[in-house]
Amino acid sequence: MTDFYNILSKTFKNNGLAEYIDKADIFFKLYNSLIDTNKLYNLTAVTDVEKVCALHFADSLSALKYIEKNADLLDIGCGAGFPSLPIAIARPDVRVTAVDSTAKKIDFVSSFSKENALANITAITGRAEELARSEMRHGFSIVTARAVARLNVLCEIAVPLLKLGGHFIAMKGSAGKEELREAENAIKALGGSVTDFSEWELVLSCETQKRTIILIEKTAVTPDIYPRAYSKILKKPL
Ligand code: SAH
Repeated sequence: MTDFYNILSKTFKNNGLAEYIDKADIFFKLYNSLIDTNKLYNLTAVTDVEKVCALHFADSLSALKYIEKNADLLDIGCGAGFPSLPIAIARPDVRVTAVDSTAKKIDFVSSFSKENALANITAITGRAEELARSEMRHGFSIVTARAVARLNVLCEIAVPLLKLGGHFIAMKGSAGKEELREAENAIKALGGSVTDFSEWELVLSCETQKRTIILIEKTAVTPDIYPRAYSKILKKPL
C-alpha cells in the first residue's frame, strides 16, 4: 500500500489531481481487483502500478473538469471501467451509467462497485447505439468515451444519448485534431457544436504522452434516423 500510495500521489500531483489523493484506498482496491481479475480474463494490457495510476486513473480523471455538479453521465465502451469508475469514485454527486457490449467487463465493473459500496454507478451490458434508440435517448447531460472508435463514428452514437445542452467528452490520444476534422460533418448533422478542444500532456515519471479532449455540445435535436445500425455507421460514417 505504501508504494502504491506514493506512486498514486506523485502521479495525481503531477497531473493537477492532488485533491483526489484522499481516495487512495479505493484506488488501491481497484488496482488490486484489476490485476487479480486480469489473471482470469483479459481486462487490460496495462498492469505496471505507475502506468495504471497514470494511463487509467489520472487520464480518466482528466474529464472531471468538464462535468457539472449532479451530472447524469453515460460512458460508452467502458471496458474495465475507464473513465467511468474513477469518475464515480472521485465524484459521488455524479450518476454514472457504464456501458459495454462485453458482459465479462460489465461483470467486473458491477462487482467492484457493489463490493466497494459505490452507489452512484450502474453497469449495463449492451451496445450503446441500441441504447440510443431506447428510452435512454436524450437521457444524459454528459456522455464520455475513451479508446472506443474514431470520432465520426462515436458522435453518431454519443450525441443522440445527450439531452439538449448536454456535452460529449471525447477522450483522444495524439490524433485528436485529425479525428475532429474528419468528424466535422457528422457533428453538424447530429445537432452538435464543438465548444472546447484541449491538447494536453499526461505526465508519467519518465515520459509524457499527448492527449486530446474534444467537447461537443448538443445544440439541436438529433434527427430520428440516427444512430443507424453499427455496420452502417462503420461502412458509411457521416
Ligand atoms: N474505455 C475503456 C475501454 C476501451 S476498449 C478504456 O479506455 O480503457 C473499447 C471497449 O468498447 C471494448 O470493451 C468494447 O467491448 C467496447 N465497445 C465498442 N463498441 C461498443 C458499442 N457500440 N457499444 C458498447 N460497447 C462498445
